[in-house]
Amino acid sequence: MLLEIDDLTLRYGRIEALHGISLHVEEGEVVALIGANGAGKSSTMRAISGLRPVALGSIRFNGEDITNLRADLRVRRGICQAPEGRGIFPGMTVLDNLDMGAYTRRDHAGIAADLDRVFTLFPRLAERRRQHGGTLSGGEQQMLAVGRALMSRPKLLLLDEPSMGLAPMIIQQIFDIITEINQQGTTILLVEQNAQQALSRAHRGYVLETGRIVKEGTGQDLLHDPSVKEAYLGVA
Ligand code: ATP
Repeated sequence: MLLEIDDLTLRYGRIEALHGISLHVEEGEVVALIGANGAGKSSTMRAISGLRPVALGSIRFNGEDITNLRADLRVRRGICQAPEGRGIFPGMTVLDNLDMGAYTRRDHAGIAADLDRVFTLFPRLAERRRQHGGTLSGGEQQMLAVGRALMSRPKLLLLDEPSMGLAPMIIQQIFDIITEINQQGTTILLVEQNAQQALSRAHRGYVLETGRIVKEGTGQDLLHDPSVKEAYLGVA
């Protein structure tokens, strides 16, 4: 088990956003977490990456308890999040943005190899390597955010809404690349409102509703589940 979350509760002041959720991710999997606005998807990601402390429950990564570990130390252990809303550095070049992703590393040969890999996965970023991040299109910025996360060579890649705000064709491309990254050996936990794409690419998925996990199953099972279809896939 790479990631194991047990009975996790997270609060913002008096608002309880997660009421004791449990989920796990096995090495090599793509796992999708789906749910409506405000269900607690981003809060779950923040708890895993250490951006928000948890009130109760535990998070184990690679067999070790990381519930109270600092966020930067989680990056060093191999958890990296490509943030929602992209979160790239607009005033820095594409290349510098990618270099920032490798800030915890000292293995220069490995960094150079990963930069090549990112440019192979995202040829658009290679073409635009000297351009400022802020001048890229929405889809390219999303690619840059994913590329930057890959530069830390994560064991677990957390993706928060990678399809948000993108045109259908670009969404397809982003998901193709997510599948490819996974096939190259990176485990992925994906938060998505685009349940159709996420579940069709994921090995397993969880449905989050108002801070509780209400359903789990293989991506295919959830895609064909009548209540999931009705609530999240727009099919009655
Ligand atoms: P979205 O897709 O809209 O981001 P989500 O599923 O990611 O939704 P969260 O952002 O995790 O949901 O929010 C879960 C709950 O916690 C919501 O009720 C939200 O209003 C609340 N919440 C989130 N962030 C804060 C905050 N900084 N302060 C107070 N309440 C918050």
